[in-house]
Amino acid sequence: MAEPTQEAAVLRVRLLSPSVREMVLAPLEQKISFKPGQWVSLKLPVGEHPPLNRAYSMAEPESASGHLVLAFDRVSHGLGSEYLFTMKEGNRVVLSGPYGHFVVPDPLTKDLVFIARYTGIVPIRCVLKQLFSTPPFRDVTLIYGGPSRTELIYHDEFTALAAAQRNFHYVPTILNRQEADRESRSEAEIVASLFGNRRDVFPMICGLKAFVRPLRTYFTERGFERRELRHETYD
Ligand SMILES: Cc1cc2nc3c(=O)[nH]c(=O)nc-3n(C[C@H](O)[C@H](O)[C@H](O)COP(=O)(O)OP(=O)(O)OC[C@H]3O[C@@H](n4cnc5c(N)ncnc54)[C@H](O)[C@@H]3O)c2cc1C
Repeated sequence: MAEPTQEAAVLRVRLLSPSVREMVLAPLEQKISFKPGQWVSLKLPVGEHPPLNRAYSMAEPESASGHLVLAFDRVSHGLGSEYLFTMKEGNRVVLSGPYGHFVVPDPLTKDLVFIARYTGIVPIRCVLKQLFSTPPFRDVTLIYGGPSRTELIYHDEFTALAAAQRNFHYVPTILNRQEADRESRSEAEIVASLFGNRRDVFPMICGLKAFVRPLRTYFTERGFERRELRHETYD
């Protein structure tokens, strides 16, 4: 059976950084109910055999308006993201969804460790907004790497959340060697130093495969089973 699709109108577009845009979409036929961490599939009118399907995670939890907030970076020579960067208020796009299993376990019985690189933060930001709307009893740590300070989207928001919530720990890291200070570490080094051999945490990892896979291996080598961590890969 064909998946149900519908049109959505672009309500707003804004820059989150020089290379990342946020887009607010209003589905025109039916509200899309989703869990934080899920994504929608955009059917873009580009490529040799359109539509080109591209997945984008929601950056904000479901709201009464039914609007979907997406955030994406421009991939060099990337057909889908370059097309998205041309879209403006009033344009329309076909989409379907929601999809995905990158959601917080319910019930939550362990401390959470989120690990993201660059726009891999998008579904995690959505999850965090929902989690801290009624602060959880567990500790939550976010280890988040970006190419540069200006490309570390939502950094101010996470800094403010860490100042306000005792159980939210924010560990940002800048990956660009020129900009980073001498002590700057990779996300994997931070994970090893903070969590070492701890088994009583639930890791959730998001980004490109080259980033996610070694981290997943790190945890599986320490005895984590598949169901004891979650990951989302963009490629
Ligand atoms: C479940 C899921 C959720 C996703 N959520 C988001 C999201 O919230 N925000 C977002 O920006 N992207 C997200 N993506 C990636 C997105 O679907 C596209 O793959 C991305 O925009 C590149 O598409 P493209 O057609 O421009 O380039 P392509 O030609 O398809 O990709 C070129 C190469 O770029 C790399 N790549 C893929 N995604 C990215 C990226 N985001 N940044 C840098 N390099 C990338 C891959 O190695 C890929 O081989 C998600 C992907 C999946 C599978």
